[in-house]
Amino acid sequence: MRKIDPNNFTLAKRGTSREINRQIALTLIRTHQPVSRADLSRLMETNRANITFLVNELLEEELVREGAQGNQKVRGRKPTFLYLNSQNSRAIAVDVRASRTYLMVTDSIGKQTGDIVSFQTVFDPEKFAEELSRQIVNILGGGLAGCDGIGIVIPGMVDPKTGIVVRAPALGWRHVNLLKALEARLKGIPIQLENSGKACALSQIWSTRGDGLNHGDIVFVSVSDGLGIGVVINGELVRGRHNSAGEFGHVPLSIDGPLCSCGANGCWEAYISNPATLSRYFGRNVSGRKPKALEVADFTIEDLIVRARGGDSKALTALHSTARYLGLGLATIINALDPWRIYIGGEITEAWDLIEPEVRDAIKERTLTGELGETPLKIVPAVEYPRLRGAVALVTAPAFAAPKVA
Ligand SMILES: [Zn+2]
Repeated sequence: MRKIDPNNFTLAKRGTSREINRQIALTLIRTHQPVSRADLSRLMETNRANITFLVNELLEEELVREGAQGNQKVRGRKPTFLYLNSQNSRAIAVDVRASRTYLMVTDSIGKQTGDIVSFQTVFDPEKFAEELSRQIVNILGGGLAGCDGIGIVIPGMVDPKTGIVVRAPALGWRHVNLLKALEARLKGIPIQLENSGKACALSQIWSTRGDGLNHGDIVFVSVSDGLGIGVVINGELVRGRHNSAGEFGHVPLSIDGPLCSCGANGCWEAYISNPATLSRYFGRNVSGRKPKALEVADFTIEDLIVRARGGDSKALTALHSTARYLGLGLATIINALDPWRIYIGGEITEAWDLIEPEVRDAIKERTLTGELGETPLKIVPAVEYPRLRGAVALVTAPAFAAPKVA
């Protein structure tokens, strides 16, 4: 599916899907709200009769509501503006990591409405499904009423059509039907699963704030317990034949480097994930094959960044090494894809001022031309929860999406 560009769309003509026009209207209301029917008619370049019909339908289905715009009055009466009806329903975003799993509740357009909660990730898939379902019911206040859907991002390869986790090395999962396990417990609620890097990339092109939309080729690199990478080419997420496209995390930086969670040595992920940075600092291996090592890691990357800022030179050295490896891997992506921009998310971005020069130097060192070396990097701050935003976009974005129109 492609996001509808509110500045450049083609209205469906007679005979094509009416659904597309509804989605265009919803997209325009979302991006321009509050919007009048007259404005909408102008934006959609269609007559008022069509708009009245369309809007009445959306009002009936409670997808849209009417309201006033401030104190603005036209000839003594308040004009009635259209808003997306986002208050009556909720969506749940879930970010599964090898260390902890995070949950956030939002309204139907993805605005956070409560605190983020987390629990220690359980590696047994059935037990995990049970604990996650319990946490979801809890965060919704004890029931599933009014829940529009659940979006879950996974640190691994996912088939979003079947909901099967094909392989998640950090969790030790292969061919786990997580969707089935969750559907059995959360009856009737639509559940979407996606690889975390791909979801982050999608949320950049879906989000009204995201600016990836107008510039076809972008890459999102999410650095956390592992590496999640999403590649968008010509405005579309690249999945590949088996949903593994974008797994740059397992491209080796060195064939005999540190052990990676996938079982191989020297993967990019094994150099720059949070556990990799922490192991460099502590001089011991907390990354590697066994996800259990993370359970005892109560010292986080944020703690390490605080120490680096406090003058701990060992902490700063560990961050600088990560920065150099981060840049070397980014250079591979840049040489291979020549994207318009690379987004970087994850806790490490909190130290961006400390590491940016090393990252940029390494990129310049290994990219093939001067222009490639200048590829823009955009930091998505951890406080914006890019992975949870990616998860919620899986639920909220399809309402605004148009099926691909050739
Ligand atoms: Zn690997």
